[in-house]
Amino acid sequence: MPASPERAPAPPVGTAPVPTARRTAYLIVLVVLPLVALAAAAAVAWGRGIGLRDVAIAVAMYLVSIYGISVGYHRMLTHRSFRARRPLRLALAVAGGLALEGPAALWVAEHRRHHKYADRPGDPHSPWAYGDGGRALLRGLAHAQAGWFYTARLRSRREHWAPDLLADPDIRRLDAAYPAVAALSFLLPAAVGGLWSLSWTGALTALFWGGFVRYAVVHHVTWSVNSVAHAFGGRDFATRDRSTNVRWVAVLTLGEGWHNWHHAEPTSARHGVLKGQHDPSAWLIRRFERAGWAYDVRWPDPARIEARRAGAAAVR
Ligand SMILES: [Zn+2]
Ligand SMILES: [Zn+2]
Repeated sequence: MPASPERAPAPPVGTAPVPTARRTAYLIVLVVLPLVALAAAAAVAWGRGIGLRDVAIAVAMYLVSIYGISVGYHRMLTHRSFRARRPLRLALAVAGGLALEGPAALWVAEHRRHHKYADRPGDPHSPWAYGDGGRALLRGLAHAQAGWFYTARLRSRREHWAPDLLADPDIRRLDAAYPAVAALSFLLPAAVGGLWSLSWTGALTALFWGGFVRYAVVHHVTWSVNSVAHAFGGRDFATRDRSTNVRWVAVLTLGEGWHNWHHAEPTSARHGVLKGQHDPSAWLIRRFERAGWAYDVRWPDPARIEARRAGAAAVR
């Protein structure tokens, strides 16, 4: 009997091939440029340091970008853990865009696929994609951190994973205007720096620190959730994936590093649910709720948290 030809495994549902030219563009914009910016920052800071004005602008841009991703793109748009009045919804979606991680519907599509297949074949960015051994894990961490933008030959289709966002006229318009939002992410710090110092030099240094360097740092900080918070750290809750809770990631991502609970209860508006797990994003959502701007917030149920913990203890 003739040997049957080997068949390639079927691609995960809701994906489409990405042309090589676009993968190369992703590689340059999302992987190479941030690294160049960080190297340049180290060189500049070594020579002449960084002024207080630029620190203030960069920190403000960092907070807006990270909150935009965690509260806007992630907790509001991807997981619908709360609803927001239109002005707040728009503001959060713009803030998420300023992080330069792509238009909302695309980000949401990739992330929903991550939850569906977390750490199994089909997950767009699992650090365990190449196996459990030391070298395989190193390769997997690089893949989860940023490499998947290039190596992933399949992109999540928005029509499949995020039809709700495609049906939202505000999000559709905002995503169509994404290049303008991306430009704003650099023009805003430059304008503030220029007006604050009343000089072109002030605009340029603010563009460098609050634009390029902030962009590089924000990217690596958010992606450490994909890599570190699926590989190292404690697992307080039983989940089907290998998500973990990592304090330093939670500090830098304003709460997103409490990733184990997030995979246990993805729609929970709070990720840091145990004692001592500070979650500034949940704090901000609470402020919005008190102001009447956010509603239908899905706060976690203490009984469910305990039940999940007991599940994890039973597994140990
Ligand atoms: Zn995850
Ligand atoms: Zn999520």
